[in-house]
Amino acid sequence: MSQTRSTCPYCGVGCGVIIESEGGQIIGVRGDPQHPANFGKLCTKGSTLHLTATPAITRQTRLLQPMQRLRRGHAPVALGWDAALDRVAGEFGRIVREHGPDAVGFYISGQLLTEDYYVFNKLAKGLLGTNNVDTNSRLCMSSAVAGYKLTLGADAPPACYDDVNHAQCLFIVGSNAAYAHPILFRRIEAAKQKNPAMKIMVADPRRTDTAELADLYLPLLPGTDVMLFHGLLHVMLWEGWTDATYIAEHTYGFDELKSLVREATPDVVAQTCGIPKEDLFKAAQWFAQSPATLSLYCQGLNQSSSGTAKNATLINLHLATGQIGKPGAGPFSLTGQPNAMGGREVGGLANLLSAHRDLANPAHRAEVAALWGVADVPSKPGKTAVEMFQAAADGEIKALWIACTNPAQSMPDQATVRRAMQRAEFVVVQEAFATAATCDFADILLPATTWGEKEGTVTNSERRISRVLPAVPAAGEARHDWRIAVDVARRLEAQLRPGQPSLFPYETTEAIWNEHRESTRGRDLDITGLSYAMLETEGPQFWPLRQGDRTGKPRLYEDGVFPTADGKAKFAALPYQSTAEPSESHFPFSLTTGRLRDHWHGMTRTGTLGRLFGHVAEPCVQLNPRDMERRGLKDGELVHVTSKRGAIVLPAQASHTIQPTQAFIAMHWGPEYLSGRSSQGEPLAGVNALTTSAYCPTSKQPELKHAAVKILKAELP
Ligand code: SF4
Repeated sequence: MSQTRSTCPYCGVGCGVIIESEGGQIIGVRGDPQHPANFGKLCTKGSTLHLTATPAITRQTRLLQPMQRLRRGHAPVALGWDAALDRVAGEFGRIVREHGPDAVGFYISGQLLTEDYYVFNKLAKGLLGTNNVDTNSRLCMSSAVAGYKLTLGADAPPACYDDVNHAQCLFIVGSNAAYAHPILFRRIEAAKQKNPAMKIMVADPRRTDTAELADLYLPLLPGTDVMLFHGLLHVMLWEGWTDATYIAEHTYGFDELKSLVREATPDVVAQTCGIPKEDLFKAAQWFAQSPATLSLYCQGLNQSSSGTAKNATLINLHLATGQIGKPGAGPFSLTGQPNAMGGREVGGLANLLSAHRDLANPAHRAEVAALWGVADVPSKPGKTAVEMFQAAADGEIKALWIACTNPAQSMPDQATVRRAMQRAEFVVVQEAFATAATCDFADILLPATTWGEKEGTVTNSERRISRVLPAVPAAGEARHDWRIAVDVARRLEAQLRPGQPSLFPYETTEAIWNEHRESTRGRDLDITGLSYAMLETEGPQFWPLRQGDRTGKPRLYEDGVFPTADGKAKFAALPYQSTAEPSESHFPFSLTTGRLRDHWHGMTRTGTLGRLFGHVAEPCVQLNPRDMERRGLKDGELVHVTSKRGAIVLPAQASHTIQPTQAFIAMHWGPEYLSGRSSQGEPLAGVNALTTSAYCPTSKQPELKHAAVKILKAELP
């Protein structure tokens, strides 16, 4: 039996795993006791990984050879790799020649490895000359990126997991870490057990399992986080709990913010957020007066039409109280996906460039062009996730290349997304799982390797880079994501820059990573002191880790100097705004979405295991018992849940975790479990038949945490 150290492919905690294999098959998995993210522990998802990779499941679920669909709506047929790659390069080349580079779009994934991401980014921005490359991480953390940059000057979470052990107050906002980041949550539980004096506050419209651990639970109304944060600052100012020295020495813009939060009186906050005034006072006091306060936050802040404001106004609280840059303190955004951070690092989003450079900055574009050996990088911002599918639905984008993500299930406003893929002239789906709903829309299907087969690196929520290593050969004819992108890129180079040296000379992931590493030189995430060899011998490392450093930095801004022009952090005076689609008389419920404990994304992997349905067996809409009673509903009775965009039918379930006029549906259920219709009658699936693509104007992250819906009892025929 062989043992291979690698990383769990599910959430942003980034737990280390040891994969046991024999005869080319994965036979077991266990937590890596030496990995600093989990010290040997795994959650239900991680500990069952090997069971999702058995030969029987691989045969049923994996895409094992390249396929092409000769006519839309017909079954795809097999073709060889060379023919498949030639066709992709031929069609992308043709469309770029006929319509210009912005007629193509790449929609990639926070589940790709850093090396995969790097190649896709260079292919789009460096070779083809379009910034139309975005990722499902746009749905996950782009508001966190925007919030950090706006206030602290760089996209760098300043804290680390170990800070949980040093905090005296934990403020968990918009995060059900108990389900979404289970191993981190176990660390929180252990810290509380060891230090019962540590205060835990949870702000969330749902009383989740995370909220059950709280000393103070703040059941704020959906979308009112900014008002809550302004109200907390108002109280802190009134009570004299801010840190005037820290504000004076390390920040600017406080006066403007002070004027703004003057209006956020306890009465206004209590009414807007639905929180008792005494709890607001208690929360403000605990936050400001604890020796160390750590905020942990996730999609409740990010997936919002005010996502940037929510992130930035929470960071305001840390700056105003000096709760940053010391052990156990700081604003710490949690990434949902295993490598959303790596994607940020290589600039794999429509508005970013390599190593945290900005597309809008001419000097940054010139630096990246020089690194890549191209004349320039286009300045026109690319289409972000929602914009990209809208542009394809409008006929502006004519070719889509979708890699390692399942937008036919996961994107909001499914009707538009599906129309986009139907209207596009050419759709490439590069995927490990043939069961992903998006495969139905592909003209070409390219089989990709997945966990247990892939090699590269990922970065977890705390900026720690880990190796991902293969334990078994690729299934069927599957190839690595970076390899597929390189092979198409070289074919495109033959059309677009014949006779010139390739921009993609890579034969190994290490060669790609080394180029990425060089791009970070002198940047805030500088990893020029790190190597594959160091990651393998000394284990996962934090960035930055500069040349000559022995270790990375677990904690940032300990010297009070921020990566801004004058070294000071900026207070963000951003006003509270309600959700994009407020509930109203025709659509009186606020629908929110979220994770279950034992499933991941669209269930392509976790849905193969019966045991992972033991916790929750089938889809349902959770409602407050009073709303159930008012509508004459009993547990399990079917209801229509309808938004302006579509409708689904599913059983209702009473839950005291849900407040009146609110509703919750888990995000995971796909077409096999939850069918529906668009408002025009087209077949749709899953909760995203209902969700809105309204997004934060700064981060462009859509508001998956709120849609106005109505709920009516389904009449049986
Ligand atoms: Fe995997 Fe996340 Fe569970 Fe760790 S906590 S085992 S990374 S799913």
